[in-house]
Amino acid sequence: MCRHLGYVGPPVTVGELLVRGPHSLFVQSWAPRRMRGGGTVNADGFGAAWWRRANAGIDDVRHTVSRYRNSAPIWTDPAVEEVLGQLESHAVVAAVRSATVGMPIERGACAPFTDEHWAFSHNGLVPAWRAVLPAVAAYLDATLDAPVFRSPAILLEAESLTDSAALWVLLRGLLETLDPAEALTRLTGAVLRHAPEARLNLLLGNGIELWATTVYHSLSALATDDAAVLSSEPYDDDPRWQTVPDRSLVTAVPGRLTVTDLPALERSRT
Ligand code: GLN
Repeated sequence: MCRHLGYVGPPVTVGELLVRGPHSLFVQSWAPRRMRGGGTVNADGFGAAWWRRANAGIDDVRHTVSRYRNSAPIWTDPAVEEVLGQLESHAVVAAVRSATVGMPIERGACAPFTDEHWAFSHNGLVPAWRAVLPAVAAYLDATLDAPVFRSPAILLEAESLTDSAALWVLLRGLLETLDPAEALTRLTGAVLRHAPEARLNLLLGNGIELWATTVYHSLSALATDDAAVLSSEPYDDDPRWQTVPDRSLVTAVPGRLTVTDLPALERSRT
C-alpha cells in the first residue's frame, strides 16, 4: 500500500522533505515498516505537490499548487535531488505508490491529485470501485442538501482508471460546498456504507492546513510549535510523533493537531 506525507511549516525544499530522516518517504518506498493488506514495495511511481503564496498578505488564503509526478520508482529519478531539491515551499503533500492489483501504472494514477489550491492522496483500496463509486455519488447526491454530482458520468473525469483518481473526483465535488472535514467525513462514510472493506487513508492539503482520515492504514502525526507533519510512518525517532488511531479524522496546522473519531459505520447497506 502506498505511503504519503503532508507538511506545513517553515519553508523546506521539497526534495529535502522527501529524503528527511532515516526512515524518509524515499526509504519507505522500498523498506516500509507498517504495510497492511498487501504490497511490499512502493515502486509504482511517486509525486509531490507544493504551494506558493501569490502575496504574503495575511488575507491570502488561496495558495497556488504545483506538482511533479513520475510513474517510475522514486529511487530511479534524479529529479528528487536535482529539481525538487531546488524548490522551496512552506507546504508539501507527497506520496509513493504501490499500485493495487489490476490498476494501471501511469503518471496519471500517481498522487497527489490536484485542483485549484487542493492536493490529495489516497492510501488504500475501494473494492469493486467501478460499481461502488457511482453508487456512492448517487447516495451523496441523495443525502446532501443540494445534489453535486447529478450523474455518475462525472466519474469519467477521473485522471486514471483507479479508485484513488475517482475518489478525488468525488471529494473535489464535495469541497465545492462543504468544508474539508465535513467533505472527508461524508465521503468516507458513504464509501464504507457501500464497501465496508474499503481502506481509506485520505490526505488533503490546501497549502495552509492538512486534513487526513485513517481507515485501516497507519498514520502518524508530528506537531511542533512551527510545523505540522502527517505521515504514513514516522520518518525519524522524534518522541513527539503520535500514532493516529484507526477511524480518525485529523486536522493539522503548525502547532495544532486535532484528532476526532470518524462517525460509527451505519449498519444498513444500499
Ligand atoms: N488503490 C490505489 C492505487 O492503486 C492506492 C494504492 C495504495 O494505497 N497502495 O493507486
